[in-house]
Amino acid sequence: MSQSLATVAYLGAAILFILSLGGLSNPETSRRGNLFGMVGMALAVLATVFGPRVSPAGIPWIIAALVVGGSIGLYAAKVVKMTQMPELVALMHSLVGLAACLVGFASYVDTSIQYQGVEKVIHEVEIYIGILIGAVTFSGSLIAFGKLNGKIGGKPLLLPARHWLNLAGLLIVIWFGREFIQAKTVAEGMTPLIVMTVIALLFGVHMVMAIGGADMPVVVSMLNSYSGWAAAATGFMLSNDLLIVTGALVGSSGAILSYIMCNAMNRNFISVIAGGFGSGGGATPAKSGEAAQPQGEVVPVNAADTAELLREAKSVIIVPGYGMAVAQAQHTVYEITKTLREKGVKVRFAIHPVAGRMPGHMNVLLAEAKVPYDIVMEMDEMNEDFPDTDVAMVIGANDIVNPAAQDDPASPIAGMPVLEVWKAKTSIVMKRSMASGYAGVDNPLFYKENNRMLFGDAKKMLDEVLGALKA
Ligand code: NDP
Repeated sequence: MSQSLATVAYLGAAILFILSLGGLSNPETSRRGNLFGMVGMALAVLATVFGPRVSPAGIPWIIAALVVGGSIGLYAAKVVKMTQMPELVALMHSLVGLAACLVGFASYVDTSIQYQGVEKVIHEVEIYIGILIGAVTFSGSLIAFGKLNGKIGGKPLLLPARHWLNLAGLLIVIWFGREFIQAKTVAEGMTPLIVMTVIALLFGVHMVMAIGGADMPVVVSMLNSYSGWAAAATGFMLSNDLLIVTGALVGSSGAILSYIMCNAMNRNFISVIAGGFGSGGGATPAKSGEAAQPQGEVVPVNAADTAELLREAKSVIIVPGYGMAVAQAQHTVYEITKTLREKGVKVRFAIHPVAGRMPGHMNVLLAEAKVPYDIVMEMDEMNEDFPDTDVAMVIGANDIVNPAAQDDPASPIAGMPVLEVWKAKTSIVMKRSMASGYAGVDNPLFYKENNRMLFGDAKKMLDEVLGALKA
């Protein structure tokens, strides 16, 4: 493939990626957005593999690598459960970081292109920064993976003088950067490069370990952004324009998402990444999923009574959370919605921006179950409607409906906006036990006078409610 054809293909791919991002911003156009992204990526891979910069002798190696990597990806995509998606995404971000590190080291030891003068300095700065971002992304994403799948606890690790440690790390990285640029030979430059990589890896671990459970959404979207910048840095190292554009698109959209997440959680971005947020001023979060200390009496309710409350209601707001994803209850939720709407009950969904374990988690599940988009509302649109609502039905959600965020300044989630379900005439919380949510915080909602607890697996309980509604 000639250089000009490859350039045209890259341009086409870049346009498709932009259209893809545009499409993904709305559930109705997201399938088309995905398709644009897939076609763009296929075009980009073909133009790179058969482009002028790959020698024919290298093609079988690339194809072999594509087959191995593609098969692993295909297998992972087939077996991954919806609840494991966030972990998978974190793992994939770590691979982007690892790739940036490997490409950085490879382009440093590759002497086939001799850079001179300013060009040499620029190339080495690209390598240094690329490996720095790549290493932070790699180790940070691995820790995020561990935190999301529960192998590492949600409690923040707060080292004494952690901010000073971070500052010292930064100064050492800058110092070794100078050493690296001044090195006369590859062997001489290797030591500062390796030292910086180790510090960057440690920083990535420290940064994510210091994040409290409730602030993980910001970290997930931030690592998404880092992986984009790592890809852009790789593009600079390889002088690949498309990789620079694509990386910048991912990096900037991830940064915007992190900003939106911070706003949604009423958090300061810098404070979150500096660590220690989500640890609370005074209260210590319990381990996520641990039983809460009883704060009073809870009023249990059964499926038949729940159906009765729903049937008699004029308006119902459903609040889905992580437990709905675990139970895969979204299809039954839709059946209940349909049945209630046929009976003339006004049913709407209230979606908290950090519900579930990844941005848009609930929207994806509800779209899969074919819930109409026009009854799926954002938190801000719905909070003022709870006082005029007969029943607020919480399905496997916990942290996002915790009044302690508003009432208890010492709570680890203090200040985080929540869905005010307790303002409805009756709230019903559907979950299996009294266990806390991801942030490990007790929930006073359960003990409110107008709250009822429907204990059990969400799918099983909703099937029973549906049966009772139809009876
Ligand atoms: P939570 O994790 O707070 O609560 C989920 C609840 O679901 C649990 O208390 C659990 O209680 C219940 N549950 C689990 N399985 C089932 C089941 N099979 N049937 C019924 N209930 C079940 O989830 P929320 O959605 O309320 O809040 C999201 C949390 O995750 C926030 O703290 C957020 O910060 C964090 N987070 C969000 C990310 C995002 O991007 N959205 C990313 C990372 C973290 P029980 O065990 O008693 O059943």
